[in-house]
Amino acid sequence: MKRPKIVVIEDEPDIRELLEYNLAREGFRVHSTRDGEEGLSLVKREDPDAVLLDLMLPGLDGIEVCRKLKSDPLTRAIPIVMVTAKGEESDIVLGLGIGADDYVAKPFSIKELIARVKAVLRRGALKEERTDRERIVRDGVVIDAGCHTVRVDGKSLTFTATQFRLLHFLASHPGRVFTRDQLLSRVIGEDALVVDRNIDVHVRAIRKKLVSYRDLIETIRGVGYRFQDEDE
Ligand code: CA
Repeated sequence: MKRPKIVVIEDEPDIRELLEYNLAREGFRVHSTRDGEEGLSLVKREDPDAVLLDLMLPGLDGIEVCRKLKSDPLTRAIPIVMVTAKGEESDIVLGLGIGADDYVAKPFSIKELIARVKAVLRRGALKEERTDRERIVRDGVVIDAGCHTVRVDGKSLTFTATQFRLLHFLASHPGRVFTRDQLLSRVIGEDALVVDRNIDVHVRAIRKKLVSYRDLIETIRGVGYRFQDEDE
């Protein structure tokens, strides 16, 4: 299994070093910064498995960082554990209200903090498992990963391997936006057999086959694509 990646955003050097050291010792890959603004770009760049976020930061504070990460479709699925000082309960409530996944209060024990991080990772993994289903049924579309077929209104269609993987990947993560680069690396990767590495071309081909269900794959302008969420 790949070692989980954690981004730490904490301005106090002692605590930051303590976190870096102990997380690394637990086998995590760690990227850290002391600055909220830089933390945002670090999270976008590294696409970590979780973020440890201090609330009291100079400049852009932790609440603002949390709000921005949770309102950005590209980062909102990444679990955030807030690190708060004593007496910041109202900030904790605010943070959880805007989507933070958990918190630890300073002074914290490293053991407790590591346990919290592992817990949010586990919950994230469960979610991922649930969405990575063999058979996905949406409206008149049935995507069957077991026998590699797509049926539209009962009619079996021929998809290329790339088209199938792309559709299955998007449909496995409804509501989540992916950039073209993310789709390219996660769906096509290093596959040398894929001639056309242009995601738009594959999406166009898939939509054509889905006919009246073409809008299940939404174009998010300036960002990428997403499979329509069920409750939309
Ligand atoms: Ca601080």
